[in-house]
Amino acid sequence: MKRRDFLAVTAASALPLGCRKKPEFTFPGELVGPDLPLGHWVRGGLFPEPDRYEPISVLIVGGGVAGLSAAWRLAGAGFDDFRVLELEAEPGGTSRSAQNHVSAYPWAAHYLPVPDRGNHAVLRLLKECGVLEGFDAKGDPVFAEEATVRAPEERLFAYGQWWEGLYLRAGASAEDERQYHAFFQEVDRWAAFRDAKGRPAFSIPRSRCSDAPEARALDSLSFGAWLEARGLSSPRLRWLLDYACRDDYGSRLDTTSAWAGLFYFAARKQGPGEDSRPLLTWPSGNGFLVDQLRRASGDRLRCGMLATSIRAGKEGLLVTAWDARNQRRIGFQAQRVIFAGPQHVARHVIEGFSEARPASSRLHNAPWLVANLTLRARPKEPSFPLAWDNVLRDSEALGYVVATHQSLSDHGPTVWTWYRPFAGLDCDAERARLRALDWPACARMVMDDLRPAHPDLEGLVARLDVMRWGHAMVRPAPGLIWNPEVLALAKPFGGVHFAHTELSGLALFEEAQDHGLRAAEEVVTALGHHSGPSWR
Ligand SMILES: Cc1cc2nc3c(=O)[nH]c(=O)nc-3n(C[C@H](O)[C@H](O)[C@H](O)COP(=O)(O)OP(=O)(O)OC[C@H]3O[C@@H](n4cnc5c(N)ncnc54)[C@H](O)[C@@H]3O)c2cc1C
Repeated sequence: MKRRDFLAVTAASALPLGCRKKPEFTFPGELVGPDLPLGHWVRGGLFPEPDRYEPISVLIVGGGVAGLSAAWRLAGAGFDDFRVLELEAEPGGTSRSAQNHVSAYPWAAHYLPVPDRGNHAVLRLLKECGVLEGFDAKGDPVFAEEATVRAPEERLFAYGQWWEGLYLRAGASAEDERQYHAFFQEVDRWAAFRDAKGRPAFSIPRSRCSDAPEARALDSLSFGAWLEARGLSSPRLRWLLDYACRDDYGSRLDTTSAWAGLFYFAARKQGPGEDSRPLLTWPSGNGFLVDQLRRASGDRLRCGMLATSIRAGKEGLLVTAWDARNQRRIGFQAQRVIFAGPQHVARHVIEGFSEARPASSRLHNAPWLVANLTLRARPKEPSFPLAWDNVLRDSEALGYVVATHQSLSDHGPTVWTWYRPFAGLDCDAERARLRALDWPACARMVMDDLRPAHPDLEGLVARLDVMRWGHAMVRPAPGLIWNPEVLALAKPFGGVHFAHTELSGLALFEEAQDHGLRAAEEVVTALGHHSGPSWR
């Protein structure tokens, strides 16, 4: 039992019997992280000097997908003299996962669209973990069936029942249908676009996208304004597209760049007029990929380590860190640093950075609340059956994914991962709102949200745990994606190289991986080591 829970229980038991408040819920649970007090320590300013600085060639700060991908690439180049410092007790960042007696389950990121044949880095990783089985006669990758999301993939709760898919066809007017097709014709047009160099307008990762002026122009207006200019006002189409903005970016139609809105759809197309690429998932979500990536680091990955300052020394970069497990200060003297944390942390940690790179304050991260509900059994399903992704239309949340979906177990205990972005305009105000929520308030929010679809749910919940992600997802606001100063944030600063998904303006596994590989390849070259052909 945690100290605060113990105090709450003893305080309650000291009350006379008649005054004891009945707990609101019959099930237990807790707020599991992230480690806010430790993370916020970097704002504290003055830290004492460590006793010594351990010499190291490369220090990676941050053990999320970007940092672990950088380590994977260094190890792949036969480069061993590195360490990864991660402040949390487990690596993975926003692709972390956990496991209980029922199933593994994600704490945030939970899927990838299947990569096309040009996405070499993701294909390499999927091959390493046995998910890429080979290539078909056309040269397209073939993936393991157990990782490809099986039917039913998605359902939507509206008008008191579940419907297949996320676009509500029931009750759609002829005009709704026309606008739906008009929108996807635009998506097809962009999926077919190639610039003078043969590059597509939209591809994953975005480093493969065209920078042609007509594509970049999409970034100058909001997705909402772009729809309006085309007379696309159908409420059900707008709901679907707003849902996509909330789901991928934690923002809304009017706060998302039209470039990012179209990227969501066009980059996933197999080709103009064809379906979207199927999705890959695992019970632990993208934690499955983290487990593979972290192998490359072995014991060079150090968790519970908060980098508190990075500054230029006489012979390299002096990095100080707080070792939370052993409650001591440690130091490294590194030839190069790969900073794989977010820019708002870089502003506190890297000496001279915030003055030299004011554009780093332009990246705003939406907060998210994620809950994992462990269920003893499934609720009754009178309409369309339980799918992998289950979305409630009349909700600020995004519904839930089912961890046991791929294991073909359609009965009995399961784990549901419920998501809610805080998509209001002001990220700081939304963060304050999230931080003010204690466990009962979070549990109430989750249960109130799901009750209309599952009135019998409460009796089935064995526990409900919550993660409050304060800085979860970078928002691709209009003007951010192609802003030259924002793009320049990926350039090295002194001997510090940068890797993080937010440098793309898009929160995706592939973006984090791409920046991790780029930063590692920059560092290997800078140190005069031979890395072989690029993995990107
Ligand atoms: C709710 C949610 C759902 C998502 N779903 C998906 C999805 O389904 N598919 C998808 O592709 N993407 C998804 N994403 C996006 C996800 O963010 C990326 O896929 C990816 O995990 C980002 O990795 P990263 O390494 O760039 O950043 P982060 O995950 O932010 O990792 C940065 C790491 O640096 C550490 N760190 C920070 N400061 C310090 C310091 N001073 N010292 C030491 N360590 C430090 C942090 O603890 C963290 O582990 C989702 C994100 C969220 C929040």
